[in-house]
Amino acid sequence: VGDGNYQYLADVHLLLNQPSRFAHKGTLGQALLVGGSKGMTGAIDLATKAALRGGCGIVKVYGPGCTPDLPSEALVQRDINLEYIKQTPTIDAKTTAIGIGMGMSHNGQEALLEFLSVLPPIPLVLDADALNILAKHPEKIPTGAILTPHPKELDRIVGTSKSSFERWEKAEKLAKKKGIYLIVKGANTHIFFPDGKILVNSSGNYGMAKGGSGDILTGLLTAILAQGYPIEKALPLGVYLHGLAGDIAAETLGHDAMNAGDILTFLPDAWKLLR
Ligand code: AMP
Ligand code: MG
Repeated sequence: VGDGNYQYLADVHLLLNQPSRFAHKGTLGQALLVGGSKGMTGAIDLATKAALRGGCGIVKVYGPGCTPDLPSEALVQRDINLEYIKQTPTIDAKTTAIGIGMGMSHNGQEALLEFLSVLPPIPLVLDADALNILAKHPEKIPTGAILTPHPKELDRIVGTSKSSFERWEKAEKLAKKKGIYLIVKGANTHIFFPDGKILVNSSGNYGMAKGGSGDILTGLLTAILAQGYPIEKALPLGVYLHGLAGDIAAETLGHDAMNAGDILTFLPDAWKLLR
């Protein structure tokens, strides 16, 4: 795969920005997370908590009326509809990155498609149900978007593959054709760039193969992008940090007992290791 463009992630710490000591919440960026539906509110909760550990100044959340209480630091806006998102959230001019799809359910389709037609030119992370919805409307995948599918979500977009190699080849082609960034998750997550570059993540472990791990990645990536990191740096930084937090969780708690939420617990240690 990749015509010799295949690279392993190394020296991830070189990707880090050093915020000014005069930074304030207005300069560190504003992330907007959109997702959740009745019976699937945990995904937006995990994504929110991850974004709050991702270094950006403000975390905003838009969810349906049934969105539960979220950490006090997040600014939560609820749709008038109780069970799923019906309306398009208004995007504050101060919003610097958006993550959408976690636990949104197929019912969020209309709101998502409308939302995609009014997007400002800021980084956009599409995950989970946003991907499942767009699998049926591939022409609506915005150029420049960042897609974070697990293998099954990717298969819904490009068709099933007989092997991981075939899937990666399809992902490489899709990223180039659509001009998008594709993070194909799993052991050794692959990041496909629109210019054909491919990065392979070396952190992470099977203890992370638990529900909710991916929602944490989306929240973290959105927060990193919100700070103004260029996409080329934000994606490897976020993917590596997420896996590193998972590695510390596995070392501390063991692969069996660790939960997705434990990735959040150890994100601070992962950041500190990189700094
Ligand atoms: P999702 O399926 O959307 O919850 O995403 C799962 C997350 O856990 C992704 O970030 C995967 O890369 C990570 N993950 C799952 N299984 C493994 C594994 N065996 N090794 C490393 N990371 C994994
Ligand atoms: Mg997921």
